[in-house]
Formats: sequence, structure tokens, C-alpha cells
Amino acid sequence: MIPFLDLKGINAKYREDLISACTDVIDSGWYIQGTQCKAFEEEFAAYCGTKYCIGVANGLDALTLTLRSYKELGVISDGDEVIVPANTYIASILAISENNLTPVLVEPNINTCLIDPKEIEKNITSKTKAILPVHLYGQTCEMDEINKIAKKYNLKVIEDSAQSHGAMFKDKKCGNLGDASGFSFYPGKNLGALGDGGAITTNDEELATTIRAIANYGSHKKYENLYKGVNSRLDELQAALLRVKLKHLDEDTNHRRTIANLYLEKIKNKNIILPTLTDENNHVWHVFVIRTNKREELQKYLLDNGIQTLIHYPIAPNKQEAYKEWKLNSYPISEKIHDEVLSLPISPILSLDDANRVICVMNNYRHSFE
Ligand SMILES: *Cc1c(COP(=O)(O)O)cnc(C)c1O
Repeated sequence: MIPFLDLKGINAKYREDLISACTDVIDSGWYIQGTQCKAFEEEFAAYCGTKYCIGVANGLDALTLTLRSYKELGVISDGDEVIVPANTYIASILAISENNLTPVLVEPNINTCLIDPKEIEKNITSKTKAILPVHLYGQTCEMDEINKIAKKYNLKVIEDSAQSHGAMFKDKKCGNLGDASGFSFYPGKNLGALGDGGAITTNDEELATTIRAIANYGSHKKYENLYKGVNSRLDELQAALLRVKLKHLDEDTNHRRTIANLYLEKIKNKNIILPTLTDENNHVWHVFVIRTNKREELQKYLLDNGIQTLIHYPIAPNKQEAYKEWKLNSYPISEKIHDEVLSLPISPILSLDDANRVICVMNNYRHSFE
């Protein structure tokens, strides 16, 4: 069986260094907000090209705390609208509603599956205060267009970079393409911890200071509380493990690109639509997503042939019970994407032999009605 993602294998590659990082933390006697977290924040900010990085507990918190901080700074208020793609992982949208803000879902481009800038502008109202573009599947959004719209209407741009560590738009990395950016280090992400983790990157000092305080009980200074904050911190153990893996992120990404290029070059089947690259061509391939109108059949065929696949994601956010108020709204492009996508195995350790087997099986696939 070719597994969709072999996390054990991915971490086994760095086993010795991961163990030694753990030992250092154990022996340091300091487990929260110490030297490892500080060093990781500096290294990740340098990697993204930003002035600041704040480690937090997970990716959802990274986005939630950014919006919360803009509220504390008086930039955004209860009931304001935040524009977000209609096709994203639910966390992007939860971060908005959790802050008593209104998510405004916007259709993506059917080919890239990324938010469509033309649709953004159509959905702006007097209540719109921010855009939350998601660099979905590992490819950056059209940031020139998005930043132009944001400037015109005086909106904040908060990137959701949870799937795109290291992806670039022109000469800048994601995390440095808007006003602030949320990252996730969930184990399956391109930069994955061995547990939960997240971070915010920004060049805005006031925002960085505010996020740091709110994530630490609302406190800038021990035992003084400026805000009704929360506890959301990146612990020393995860930070130390992430430092090991950050050093290898680019080489891991290069392997993902090798696999993706093989798939793009060699999968030839008229029943399957391969992913579309934007002009920037800087995809970091968090997932390799194809489209087919016979998804269930293809997924079963692949499994029967020893290939495990996943769906990112099977249910459109506007069809989720949690957002039943949107049940009657229609987002035909997003819904079509949700009905047709299927993710093939791709990872830093997928062998070329396994990739060639996936290609061979895919090329032998025929719709049952043919
Ligand atoms: C994973 C993910 C998140 C949430 O990250 P967690 O660390 O799991 O909370 C947010 N947005 C997107 C697009 C994601 O893929």
C-alpha cells in the first residue's frame, strides 16, 4: 500500500536530531517561553523575511489572535466583515466567527482553487475591514491584485499560510505578503511539529506586541493584564523540534516539487484534470489535488490498486451544519471543487518508484461507463 502520508517515516529521517533536541529541552528545566521558542521565532521570521514572529498553540489560534488584536487596536469592530474564500479549511472561517465578525465567502478560480480577486472587489461593503486570502494546497494567491484592492478600500490583509510554508509570490515568501500571516505546524503540514503548534508573522510592531500579550493572558508584563487574554503559546519542546525541521524545509519542499513535476508531466488521462499553476510557479505542494467528476469511483479504483488518497475537502463550508445559516446560499464554483477534488500521495519521502506506480495506475484508469 502506498500511504497518503507516512508521518512516522517523515520524522524518522530526522530521528537523531529530534531526540537530541528533546533531550536539550528536558535537561534545560525550562518548558514554556524560553530560549527554544525565542530562537525558533527568530529563525522563522528570518526564513519568511519578516521582522516579527510570535509562536502560538496552533494555526487556528494564529488567525484568531491576529483578528482579536486588530479588534483591541480599534482597527476592526464586532459585526465587521472579513472576506475569505468559500473553499477553504473550516479553520480560516472559524477564526472570523469566533471574533464576532462576519465571514463573507467569496468564490475561487475554478482552475487554481485560489480566491478570485475580481470576486473580492464585488463583495466589498462599508463594513468590510479585512481580506483573509488562503494559499490553498501550497500555492500563493494573486497577492498583487489582492493588496491593490486592500489599499484602495483600506483593508487589512491576513494571509492564511497554514498550507504554504516557503511558498513565494515574486521575490517574497508567504508570511510577508500582507499585514500579518497565520501559520500552522500541525504534524501533517509542510513544516510539522510532533503535536500542535502555530505562529504569526508580521512587520507591524504594534500588532506583534499586542498578539504576544493577548496570547499570554493579555499580559505585556508579568502579573499586569491589559487585555482579557487567552493562553496560546508554542511550548519549548515543539519549538525545539520545529527548529530541527525548519533547517530541512527547503530540501523537503524540493522533493515534493520533484514528485509534483513527475505527476504533471506523466499523468495523462482525459478523465482527470491536473492542478493549474499560477504564473508565479512557486507551489510548495502541501497536497497534489486533481479533479474528476467520478471521484468516488476513482478513489476506490486507486485503493483497489494499493494507493491511498484523501479529499481536501469533502464538504463545502457553506454546507456544514455549523454554518447552517448559509445552507441556502449557493457558491457553485466552490461546491464543484468540493465535489471533484482528490489528493494523490505526495511527501518529502515518497519514493520515485512509488510516484511512478501512482502515475501508471492513474494512466490505466478508465471510467467504468467507457
Ligand atoms: C491546518 C489549517 C489551519 C489550522 O491549523 P491548526 O494548526 O490545525 O489549527 C488553518 N487554515 C488552513 C488553510 C489549514 O490548512
